[in-house]
Amino acid sequence: MASDGYKTPTIGIDLGTTYSCVAVCRENNVEIIENDQGKRLTPSCVAFTEDERLVGIAAKNHSDMNPGNTLFAIKRLIGRRFSHSTVQNDIKHWPFKVVADPMDRPKIVVNYQGIEKEFYAEEISSMVLEKMKEVAETRLGCTVNNAVITVPAYFNDSQRQATKNAGAIAGLNVVRIMDEPTAAAVAYGMDKITEDTDEKNVLIFDLGGGTCDVSLLSIKYGKFVVRAIAGDTHLGGEDFDDRLVDYCVKEFKKINNNKDITKSVRSLRRLRTECQRAKEFLSFSVRGTIEVGYLYDGIDFSTRISRALFEDLNMDLFTRCTDLIERCLNDAMINKTGVDVVVLVGGSTRIPMVQQLVQDFFGGKELCKEINPDEAVAKGAAIQAANLNRQGDNEEKILILQDVTPLSLGVNILGGKTIIVVPRNAPIPMKKYHVLTTSYDNQTEVRIAVYEGESAESKYNNLLGEYMIIGIDPAPEGVPKIDTCFEIDADGILTVSTQVRSTSLKNKIVISKQKGGLTPEEIQTMVGAAARYKAEDEKHKAMISLEDSAQKVKSMSKDPGLSASEKKLMNETAENVITWLNANRHADISEINGQHMKLETIIQTLMKSRPRGGIPYDWILFLSKKTQY
Ligand code: ADP
Ligand code: MG
Repeated sequence: MASDGYKTPTIGIDLGTTYSCVAVCRENNVEIIENDQGKRLTPSCVAFTEDERLVGIAAKNHSDMNPGNTLFAIKRLIGRRFSHSTVQNDIKHWPFKVVADPMDRPKIVVNYQGIEKEFYAEEISSMVLEKMKEVAETRLGCTVNNAVITVPAYFNDSQRQATKNAGAIAGLNVVRIMDEPTAAAVAYGMDKITEDTDEKNVLIFDLGGGTCDVSLLSIKYGKFVVRAIAGDTHLGGEDFDDRLVDYCVKEFKKINNNKDITKSVRSLRRLRTECQRAKEFLSFSVRGTIEVGYLYDGIDFSTRISRALFEDLNMDLFTRCTDLIERCLNDAMINKTGVDVVVLVGGSTRIPMVQQLVQDFFGGKELCKEINPDEAVAKGAAIQAANLNRQGDNEEKILILQDVTPLSLGVNILGGKTIIVVPRNAPIPMKKYHVLTTSYDNQTEVRIAVYEGESAESKYNNLLGEYMIIGIDPAPEGVPKIDTCFEIDADGILTVSTQVRSTSLKNKIVISKQKGGLTPEEIQTMVGAAARYKAEDEKHKAMISLEDSAQKVKSMSKDPGLSASEKKLMNETAENVITWLNANRHADISEINGQHMKLETIIQTLMKSRPRGGIPYDWILFLSKKTQY
């Protein structure tokens, strides 16, 4: 029998740049799990305030008030070096501060509870993951320990490892890191193409909030191979929002004597929120309005906008999307007629013009878009999660998913050239051997530098790690043989090892997969810190709830139907609690709950001294809510 019922479910999480989504697969049904506000998507946003930490919708709503402490798009930092050009470019545009640690790892600086604090990208991402875990636990009514988390196909080894570490900090056992396009294909049941002996080529077009990723997968016997990927890390929904914002700024100037909204960060943010809303509306309607009261200098703003105008403002961006499809097909050396299925993924593929351009590109081909495009990745991850959860039952065939290396991997040789050992798009898990040698007579030391990238010149590639092999027996150039092995496991983690042949002296060195990322000790410390932040959040909630209850008891004490002594007792107890709360901001949660109990006890005691029919309804209501703290 399937043992799903006895195991805690493994969830699938799409940890997006702008939005995250969690899904679970139970009894062969895939469900998107709604958050506490009934929404299927949760902004990948974390905010810090004077007294609390906010994650998701609450954090996004907070960005107007406190942009410097509201963090978003942290996926752009994860697993990257601070000095990396894309990081340098991104942080220029962000309202929050990012600095480098001594090892060139980016740290985000925020002010939390009045104190300046620094967090690694893994920690901030872990807060989003923890939120998604909580969303699932609340809905499923059980603890969730295991998850499949998706990442873009172009994520390199250290970005994948960092995502895995973020999961660990969130208290999740990450059973698999899965490529987003592969997950989308699984959501559409493409892994079920097992009978068909023909290989199917599936193009996944993912246009999200800030990125556009095109991937070509081939599927045969339920096996996935990513044949090629192309993408633009700065092309997505937010760019379309920007175009609308620019348009409105100009309109506002025209109508209002050249007044410039861009001078106010807050006005701009409010306008941007409305522009995003209007953009989404225009996917279903041909006409909409953008309306913001008191936008700037006390002036209201309102403008009508048509779908045609929206398309006009963004046409060059839309065509850049189809250029990426062309590039992907060129890389895969496939003609557009060789594509069997085209799948739309990402919230921005709801835009009719985007759909039309993609469809036209493929000569009017029907596109797969039945699954909500911003939910497909999470759904695929949940299906994969359920498959992994079933492993060992021997009942169901385990879905075999094959990922690939997003970039070529190689070693540096003399003269600054990179020799490719593992070509780009090689299926993983994999092991590849290469024999290296010395480049001059009697050379006893060799530097092994591992690079990823497509350039023949090492300096243009990304250095992943390096080490020295010392103690090679002197011999003529080219005689010593160094067996080199590149190994990538199912999670895309790379290990490089070398061994010197033909000498009794054997060397074997492995480049740690932790290189550049967090060490196990650091992760352990962060797990502890995460528990502390969670406890602080809970304490904050308990305080708010206590304050709220005390105010309620105070206002209930004003009920004219109560006796003077009842009124006095209720009012005094409430006042005492408020005084205690103000004097004990550092109390622990059990003391706070103890105070809460006092309030409830008073009401319960008074209740007992009243006849059955004479109990005020708001007392009953008050006590029925007591489980909230
Ligand atoms: P991510 O990039 O994090 O994977 P999503 O795939 O959820 O995010 O895409 C988010 C983007 O999709 C946002 O820019 C959002 O405005 C956009 N979007 C969502 N719904 C619509 C819609 N109906 N029309 C146009 N854009 C939409
Ligand atoms: Mg996405």
